[in-house]
Amino acid sequence: MNFDIVIIGGGAAGLAAALQCKDKKVSALLIERDQSLGGILNQCIHNGFGLEVFDEELTGPEYAARYSHSFLNSSLDYMLDTTVVDIIKNEHFIIKAMNTKNGLFDIHAKAVILSSGCYERTRGAIHIPGERPMGIMPAGSAQRYLNIDGYMVGKRIFILGSGDIGLIMARRMTLEGAKVLGVAEIMPYSNGLTRNIVQCLNDFDIPLYLSHTITNIEGHHKLKAITIQKVDSLYQPIEGTEKRFVVDTLLLSVGLIPDVQMFDSLKFHMSPTTKSALVNQHYETSIEGLFVCGNALHVHDLVDYVTIESARAGLCAVQYIKDKNKPSKNEQFVNINENIRYVVPQKIDFNRLDDQIEFLFRSTLKAERALIKVMQGNQVIKEKKVKYVAPAEMEKISVSKNEFINHEPITMILEVLQI
Ligand SMILES: Cc1cc2nc3c(=O)[nH]c(=O)nc-3n(C[C@H](O)[C@H](O)[C@H](O)COP(=O)(O)OP(=O)(O)OC[C@H]3O[C@@H](n4cnc5c(N)ncnc54)[C@H](O)[C@@H]3O)c2cc1C
Repeated sequence: MNFDIVIIGGGAAGLAAALQCKDKKVSALLIERDQSLGGILNQCIHNGFGLEVFDEELTGPEYAARYSHSFLNSSLDYMLDTTVVDIIKNEHFIIKAMNTKNGLFDIHAKAVILSSGCYERTRGAIHIPGERPMGIMPAGSAQRYLNIDGYMVGKRIFILGSGDIGLIMARRMTLEGAKVLGVAEIMPYSNGLTRNIVQCLNDFDIPLYLSHTITNIEGHHKLKAITIQKVDSLYQPIEGTEKRFVVDTLLLSVGLIPDVQMFDSLKFHMSPTTKSALVNQHYETSIEGLFVCGNALHVHDLVDYVTIESARAGLCAVQYIKDKNKPSKNEQFVNINENIRYVVPQKIDFNRLDDQIEFLFRSTLKAERALIKVMQGNQVIKEKKVKYVAPAEMEKISVSKNEFINHEPITMILEVLQI
């Protein structure tokens, strides 16, 4: 099998990227390991999706349906229940895929778009002390058990980590009749969107223990209790602050990691912060013809940004196939100051500037008012005041082609105006 473009993953990112191949005289194949399209959206039955793209508040499945219907009505090829297990780059890409009908087989492509989403960190990744009973699971897995498979995972719940999945599951489990005793967060601020703190915890009187972590787990076979403790500024537990909760389930919402490790035989240049590929403004990696987008590139809190970014990646892959978008050797890294955790894209190819470049970034701190500056040398080429910044909320700033003054590297600066 030969295609111009193969898209790996059929969630919001893969669908948006694939739809750019429609009617463009390129052959494209989308491969999805699940039995349906839509990805993580299918299990997110709450609303809050689509405000930016559709100016409407949709549920996850409703948002997914809009794109999967368009995709299924196009003549684009796709395979469900098929997992990509490896990718090799010779002159072209050889994608090794597997399903129960065909076994292991090869697909050849000139370009590949990785839109494989992200995975959840587990207990092993954060080393929680104590016994190792059953009843401890990532919050997203619990969400899938409940919303897709119809299984209630517990009755007395505690949640570690205040990421969005944990917050949403606190409300979901409460609505299903469970008692959620609290959410502990090691940082002095929440890692979830403000709207989720209000709508998922405050509205249901679920306590949020900031600067707290779990220091003990009890239970030989089934989980019996957990203990949390306050931590100091070095994240060390403070003696005498122990609180014990009798629970049957502990949900972990302690971070998401882009799911690109399985493709490590490709050896593209990685960012230690996003734990995914370094890309230029065309979402192209250090390997020619390999594009990454969506949560596989960096973890997004809003699906709308995933769609916008991935549509752009899809278009760039099409332009690459049509020979209009071959990489140049004039890439410059984007520098950031200490108040910015990361920015995407991390590199700018000045020989292939588009009308507009959109930078997405996350701050390292919380501030009520801040100023974002984009600089070349000593000159500010763009600035924007923002009302509220927090590590959990992604920021964006666009720079148009004529705002660049030369081909020198740019520096992105976040200045705090009011804490
Ligand atoms: C609990 C939760 C709540 C959220 N709430 C909101 C909200 O209220 N509002 C909002 O706007 N956004 C929300 N988001 C964020 C948004 O939904 C996601 O960022 C977005 O849907 C991610 O899309 P994606 O395509 O990058 O990843 P995914 O949806 O994860 O899709 C990746 C796909 O790739 C497939 N795949 C992976 N590896 C392979 C492989 N090797 N071979 C074949 N297929 C593969 C997977 O099966 C999956 O279908 C939420 C996310 C979560 C998890």
